Amino acid sequence: MSAMATSFGIDKALEILGVKTINEGTSTGLNNFSNGDIIESYSPVDGHLIGKVKTTTKADYEEVMTAASSAFKTWRTMPAPQRGEIVRQFGEKLREKKEALGKLVSYEMGKSYQEGLGEVQEMIDICDFAVGLSRQLHGLTMHSERPGHRMYEQYHPLGIVGVISAFNFPVAVWSWNTALAWICGDVCVWKPSEKTPICGIACQNIAAEVFAENNLPEGISCLINGDYKVGEFMTKDTRIPLVSATGSTRMGKIVAKEVAGRLGKSLLELGGNNAIIVTPDADIKMTVIGAVFGAVGTAGQRCTSTRRLIIHESIYNKVKTAVVDAYKQLRIGNPLDENNHVGPLIDTDAVNMYSEALKKVVEEGGNLVVEGGVLSGEGYESGCYVKPAIAEAKPDFKIVQHETFAPVLYLLKYSGDVENAIDIQNEVAQGLSSAIMTNNLREAERFLSVQGSDCGIANVNIGTSGAEIGGAFGGEKDTGGGRESGSDAWKIYMRRQTNTINYTTELPLAQGIKFDL
Ligand code: NAD
Repeated sequence: MSAMATSFGIDKALEILGVKTINEGTSTGLNNFSNGDIIESYSPVDGHLIGKVKTTTKADYEEVMTAASSAFKTWRTMPAPQRGEIVRQFGEKLREKKEALGKLVSYEMGKSYQEGLGEVQEMIDICDFAVGLSRQLHGLTMHSERPGHRMYEQYHPLGIVGVISAFNFPVAVWSWNTALAWICGDVCVWKPSEKTPICGIACQNIAAEVFAENNLPEGISCLINGDYKVGEFMTKDTRIPLVSATGSTRMGKIVAKEVAGRLGKSLLELGGNNAIIVTPDADIKMTVIGAVFGAVGTAGQRCTSTRRLIIHESIYNKVKTAVVDAYKQLRIGNPLDENNHVGPLIDTDAVNMYSEALKKVVEEGGNLVVEGGVLSGEGYESGCYVKPAIAEAKPDFKIVQHETFAPVLYLLKYSGDVENAIDIQNEVAQGLSSAIMTNNLREAERFLSVQGSDCGIANVNIGTSGAEIGGAFGGEKDTGGGRESGSDAWKIYMRRQTNTINYTTELPLAQGIKFDL
């Protein structure tokens, strides 16, 4: 085995991140309110227990909400650029602790150390973005139809924003929401995935340090822990005007209904079933890199992972051979070892879902060209390691229409024009990320046109996986329709107010209505 990627181990990383008392059930700052059952977090890397975290009871939750409501009263009055300064300091702390947090992300979630560092880098990037944005929360001014009147709109914070996140981006998704919500003047209550609770504790510690150094209440950032039942405290709570929920479509449908039922707002970032269209004009080398990284990166556990390759029949065999050959080079093992390409799945339930998908694709008439399989033996003791698989399939197979959160890539063949490939690409219920590999301008533009991809993300000559924080991130249809991160995604964290001011001594009514007394 080659050397690990950092000079220190996981114990040291936990120490740097201030994660203590792991055996009694760790708690931190506001999480001291936690008195519920204990969640044990085992690493999918080696099956070892990382730590134990206390869950939040309803009574604890009420304490958290009191702290959050009180913190909001202070935070909302601070000018936005000053809130930006606090977010800048938070970004600096992340820079200092990048290696430790990246390592914990890798060890608790199972993604490669490089991807763990990349996730922390995304947090740093969104902080930088938010700092600039803190001086740009612009509203418009309009011309009033009445003389001597001025009309404009302004944005005010919403209040308490609830964040529910998935296991696969255990830290970045939280920061995409909080960095923006904070500069907007909101406070946040975060429920991380019950599968990655230690990452939540580590982030809370970093945020708490920054607030303490600035004599600000820690309630600006609150952490609650537990499964869906704890999530439901927030979805049912009218004191939370916005719930940002990232996870499966199944979860999103429940959350959407619950939050809409009380006329709250939800920001939903749900499942994807992402495809790359490969046309006869594609650069095959670029296609192979994009497709393989997209399909096996994070062991196929990204919302933007490539699940379908839609290949023109004229180059089908060539692309298939190139991708299958590339899979032969993949090294599967400990993700903290830089030599490995593919780490474990999150847990053995995910392994079972992967095995089930391979069974189903064969039952539906598919053909496994890279067989896959569950790994056992030395280095694979956690039982979470699987071999990435490739199946030739048909677009309408039920299993192809379904998001299997594992490294299973489906090869689909199209004939005729690019329109046919776009139809196949759009035929699934999800609408997150999509890509076309082509050097043909007409095909590329067609793909991006109104008749093209129906996804929230549509790329040309880039794979489906990953995104930059500068753009608004999210997808349509079963992906939930939410947008977070860059562009004008900040607007969802604020309420818009239209103001009209009369500086005359008359009171003219709008639309010329007369009301003489
Ligand atoms: P999941 O739906 O099982 O859980 C996500 C979160 O929702 C967890 O914190 C969970 O406790 C909570 N939750 C579940 N049911 C709930 C309910 N009824 N009320 C309130 N909270 C509830 O998802 P997962 O397995 O952690 O993550 C994988 C899924 O997330 C995949 O489908 C993936 O595509 C999706 N995902 C989407 C994005 C995106 O930006 N579109 C990003 C990451 C992950």
